[in-house]
Amino acid sequence: MQLEPKRYIYIVILLWVAGIVTSLSWNLLQMKNSAENAHQKTAKAFVQQISLTRAWNASHKGVYLRVSETLHPNPFLQVSNRDVTTTDGTSLTLINPAFMTRMISDIAQDQGDIKFHMTSLKPINPENKPSQWERDGLLFFEKEKTQDYFNTDKQNGKDIFNYMVPLVTKKSCLQCHAKQGYKEGDIRGGVRVSFQIQKVEFSTLIISHLFLLCAGTLVLAGFGNQIIKLTATLKKQSNIDGLTQIANRRFFDITLHREWLRSRRLKSPLSLIMCDIDHFKLYNDNYGHQAGDICLKKVAQALKGAAKRPEDLVARYGGEEFVIILPKTPAEGAKVMAEQAREAVESLKIEHCANNIAEHVTISLGIATQIFTQISAENDIIKNADKALYGSKESGRNIFTHFDDV
Ligand code: GH3
Ligand code: MG
Ligand code: MG
Repeated sequence: MQLEPKRYIYIVILLWVAGIVTSLSWNLLQMKNSAENAHQKTAKAFVQQISLTRAWNASHKGVYLRVSETLHPNPFLQVSNRDVTTTDGTSLTLINPAFMTRMISDIAQDQGDIKFHMTSLKPINPENKPSQWERDGLLFFEKEKTQDYFNTDKQNGKDIFNYMVPLVTKKSCLQCHAKQGYKEGDIRGGVRVSFQIQKVEFSTLIISHLFLLCAGTLVLAGFGNQIIKLTATLKKQSNIDGLTQIANRRFFDITLHREWLRSRRLKSPLSLIMCDIDHFKLYNDNYGHQAGDICLKKVAQALKGAAKRPEDLVARYGGEEFVIILPKTPAEGAKVMAEQAREAVESLKIEHCANNIAEHVTISLGIATQIFTQISAENDIIKNADKALYGSKESGRNIFTHFDDV
């Protein structure tokens, strides 16, 4: 199947649009993923810092700090040596990893950059109760045994990245947490870190793709238009005779085949007139080949002017021979047409001193009519018109002859 140029251009434009949309989607996804990876890396680094500090504290089974106005003993730490007094009367209190994390978290929160939150499904300190998101994450850890849980949400118009890792019970944790029933390796809770992130800027990517989409489509449509015009011109030229600018032999063959089939189907008469310039060789010999060409052009236009119905076709058959296809035309109508054609050429009054039947250029015509009452071959009509033309030449030229009268 041969595609029409217009359809072909539409398909190319459609492929271009699909390509741009695919590229945009892929790039947007890549940008989103790489931004998310960067946030995860930052969050992991924060959590690692906290874990190291906690490990240090746990490895010393807690550290003692001076009790002050801002530091009070941890009411949730229930160990016998939680509060001690030094020999000089200074009050010290034991700071375990959880309490220490909370203190660091408070400082971070005050600075407004980052928030930590220790959380657990069974918190000792009620302040460590999980939010809905943290609860989902903790249940997710227990179910999926994954190492992280994250999302991005909006708080007060800011984009916040939330990241949580599971808090796995180590041997050093058991001194406080064994009484809650935890064993080494159990997930006891999570450490959540949240911080503000910059919104990923997609606009440049979208604008550049939109530009490519519009510019590319315009260029393709422009080229497409040129191709459509060029194809139409080529198609027209392939059907036109270069010298006389009327239909050529190729287009005549196509049209006759089509009309022959149509006439057979409709059972309507089809006539064909074959015209030949009289003593044209002598015309060339007398006036030269160039003048002969001019004469051919004038005769062609005269014949074209004589065939008035839109479905009639005048074509150059070859050399100085022309044909006229007359669909839905019986013999009588074709004879009228032939006479008009003959007169049209004669009335051009092109001087032809070597023409022994007139002083100007004349033509002889042969007519054949196919009426489809019997089966006949397609080229019979051409053969018969040719025979009738021969009859006109034999009978003295500048006349028409119908094959039926030969
Ligand atoms: P008749 O009356 O029997 O048709 O004689 P005629 O001389 O016309 O016939 P013939 O077939 O002997 O000669 C046809 C001439 O037409 C020969 C050729 O030089 C001329 N001819 C064919 N094609 C062209 C063309 O494109 N340009 C010119 N100038 N002459 C052409
Ligand atoms: Mg001839
Ligand atoms: Mg001739």
